[in-house]
Amino acid sequence: MADNQNNKPKKKIGFYWIYIVLIAFFIGSMVFSGTNSAKEITMTELTKMLKEQDIEKIDLVNGKTAEIYLNEQGMKKYFPNEAPHSYGKSPNYTLTTTESRLYTKVDEAQEGMSNPVEITPVERHNWVGEIVSWVLPLLLILGFWILIMRRMGGGSGMGGGQIFNIGKSKAQLYDQEKDNKTTFKDVAGLEEAKEEVMEIVDFLKNPNRYTRLGGKIPKGVLLVGPPGTGKTLLAKSVAGEANVPFFSISGSDFVEMFVGVGASRVRDLFSQAKAKSPCIIFIDEIDAIGRARGKNLMSGGNDERESTLNQLLTEMDGFGTNSGVIVLAATNRADILDKALMRAGRFDRQIYVELPDLNGRREIFEVHMRGLKLGKDVDKEFLAKQTPGFSGADIANVCNEAALIAARRNKESIEKQDFLDAIDRIVGGLEKKNSVITPSEKKVIAFHEAGHATTSWMLEHAHPLVKVTIVPRGKALGAAWYLPDERQITTKEQMYHEMIATLGGRAAEQVIFGQISTGALNDLEKVSKQAHAMVMYYGLDEQIGNVSYYDSTGQQEYSFQKPFSEKTAEKIDEEVRKLIEGAYQEALRILNEHKEGLTQLANKLIDKEVIFTDDLVNIFGERPWKHEERVFAKREEEKPEENNEQTYNPDNTTIA
Ligand code: ADP
Repeated sequence: MADNQNNKPKKKIGFYWIYIVLIAFFIGSMVFSGTNSAKEITMTELTKMLKEQDIEKIDLVNGKTAEIYLNEQGMKKYFPNEAPHSYGKSPNYTLTTTESRLYTKVDEAQEGMSNPVEITPVERHNWVGEIVSWVLPLLLILGFWILIMRRMGGGSGMGGGQIFNIGKSKAQLYDQEKDNKTTFKDVAGLEEAKEEVMEIVDFLKNPNRYTRLGGKIPKGVLLVGPPGTGKTLLAKSVAGEANVPFFSISGSDFVEMFVGVGASRVRDLFSQAKAKSPCIIFIDEIDAIGRARGKNLMSGGNDERESTLNQLLTEMDGFGTNSGVIVLAATNRADILDKALMRAGRFDRQIYVELPDLNGRREIFEVHMRGLKLGKDVDKEFLAKQTPGFSGADIANVCNEAALIAARRNKESIEKQDFLDAIDRIVGGLEKKNSVITPSEKKVIAFHEAGHATTSWMLEHAHPLVKVTIVPRGKALGAAWYLPDERQITTKEQMYHEMIATLGGRAAEQVIFGQISTGALNDLEKVSKQAHAMVMYYGLDEQIGNVSYYDSTGQQEYSFQKPFSEKTAEKIDEEVRKLIEGAYQEALRILNEHKEGLTQLANKLIDKEVIFTDDLVNIFGERPWKHEERVFAKREEEKPEENNEQTYNPDNTTIA
């Protein structure tokens, strides 16, 4: 990928100069201080020499080292091999002592002599050594500091890593000429969202058409939706279609340890963008900086994020409407964003990018199957039906995983079964064929799963069953796979039936073995959450009434106070308990009634490990209720007016 920072060749200044300077200092200090090779003598030897008048002069260096120079007579005596005239040039001997001792001893030795040798005090500095001892620690500290800066400033596009780059934005630039072009063709489904962004492309291509009449071009567009639904893809395709440069950065890239860095990165990003206008800035996960200000009073230290956000707000206000920079931002939590960010004039438009529906999924399958070698039995509509709740990214993953599975099986093309196995794997995790399970454990698991299957078979509104298995997968020991209906609204009865089916596993253990096990943790968690949601969020409980304690702004997370009184809290607990207990009793009733079918089913499971809908039909007969199928339609289907964002999703999990 082309990267703006790497476009220009960069000279790399390494650390080597520091090493070179250090080595030079050491060598220098050794050369200068290491010249003195005179032999050290004792005080007695010195006294003897003085008495025999062999000494020319004595220098006392820095008050502690005596440097002794011999005279001509002394040279002849002690260094007969050296030229006699070399005396007095460099010290012949040294002696380490204290000042007072030297004076006393020298005076004593020369007592009564006519011309005694004088001691000359000399102050001498080893400059190099001193400088080294000062500079070395400084250099080390400096080096360490630069190292830290490099580490922090590192990451994408910072290559050389100078400290001065820390305030530079880390945005990646995708150049439309060089990089693979993403266009609307690569984005499946999302018709409404595409239509909206299509207009942005037009703004960038023909700004005059809009400004001619005095209109202003929007500055920001916020893409809101769950992860993996194609927000980044959509933003990239806008840039691809409009043929303009595309800066991509993640909200968290602004955040750094230092105060002020985020703001300076925002400034830098916008100045880079303006230089390349018309262009698009894409900020992924904008909630990292765009979270409402001043809410999180507990943690403090938010100043940095706030100043980053403030800078972003100013920049978005600051650039002229016609400067040709459009900011696209993505988040999956629009509700926690700062109001100032959302006001008109900044992100004036919000586009909801939702999980794909049946049609959307089929189209996404089509896009991702383009490059694959498919077998004849692959049916996109069937696969779309099998993957409720999957995001675009999940589907891309399914296609890739299926290709890998087919390759592992040495197939010439990817077949339906490979896709189904890929879906199973993505939903349930890896099959664990080698888990050690005792026969009695296996029996409990089989009855547990058969319990889910039986109860859901007997309940009108439970999700239709696809298959039941007792092959362990991921963390689950067994699983009943359902095909959740993609309901837009869920009735109280539907939720209740789901709860009964979920409790069917534990109930079966109770009915058959008379004792219950820990195997139902997942089920209990799911049921408790659902019951809580029914009572507290959806107003589906008679005692609590039409009240909802749901907080769509997400602020309650930070508060210590519950929005209801102690008395209500007790009542809620009581109602939740009653609801779950009722569902459990109902599950027990159904299973007692169909104990024989349950046992047959469980035995078949122990025998075959996997059973399908047909086996249930053989045991219990057809279900009397006709399942209302959602059909593939061409966009006409009307959605009820409802804000899906805030609907509690009764968990699309297909494992129970
Ligand atoms: P988001 O930004 O919403 O988290 P991305 O745009 O990064 O998700 O999507 C991740 C991947 O999922 C994409 O690269 C693409 O392969 C696939 N994908 C998601 N949505 C779609 C879609 N509508 N059409 C085609 N592919 C999609």
